[in-house]
Amino acid sequence: VVITKATYLASAVRRDQYPEECRPAVAFIGRSNVGKSSLINSLTRIRQLARVSSKPGKTQTINFYELLLKIDGGEARHPVHLVDLPGYGYAKTSRESRKVWAKFIEEYFLHAEELRFVCLLLDIRHTPMESDRRMFDWLVEHDIPVLVIATKADKIGRNARRTQIAAMQKALGVSELTILPYASPKNEGRSELLDVMKEYLVE
Ligand code: GDP
Repeated sequence: VVITKATYLASAVRRDQYPEECRPAVAFIGRSNVGKSSLINSLTRIRQLARVSSKPGKTQTINFYELLLKIDGGEARHPVHLVDLPGYGYAKTSRESRKVWAKFIEEYFLHAEELRFVCLLLDIRHTPMESDRRMFDWLVEHDIPVLVIATKADKIGRNARRTQIAAMQKALGVSELTILPYASPKNEGRSELLDVMKEYLVE
């Protein structure tokens, strides 16, 4: 699988700002600072793509990108959407702003007709926190396929990785859950993620 093109489409805080065209979509979500922008940039191989409109400290928006996927051996380009959802879990956010965040994300999830799966990003060094577990449970309850990605995998050794992945599975309550380790500086995990995208977005 090759991404032949990646372009920024739109930033939205409301439904009427979503792109008009509906495409098979993958969304990325996780706590702020989990490595989401780095992963999106590593995946698309465009260094600043994920920062086009999400400057730190600014109002958080849902950012839409269009990717063209080319499947090995084929000539066709398959247009898909990559959706970058705002990070959650700021230490300082109030209960009120968490509610606003939840409504906003929920509105996206409940109206995203072409959403095929969600990548939930978790830092490989930490056991999932309550907000991560809530996010995971909510997606499962709503029958939205989830791929859990363990980010910053290069920060720990091979053995620690195995221990951490098992701890994550335990914390999420699914012992068989596939968790994909990802290291953005080395693009590790990239081809595996592209394979999952092909499976869910193209086939
Ligand atoms: P976001 O807030 O989720 O978009 O997180 P960023 O992508 O901005 O990353 C937060 C910090 O973690 C930055 O300092 C990144 O350089 C660092 N980081 C992100 N991903 C990785 C990774 O895979 N490996 C390493 N070593 N550092 C990472």
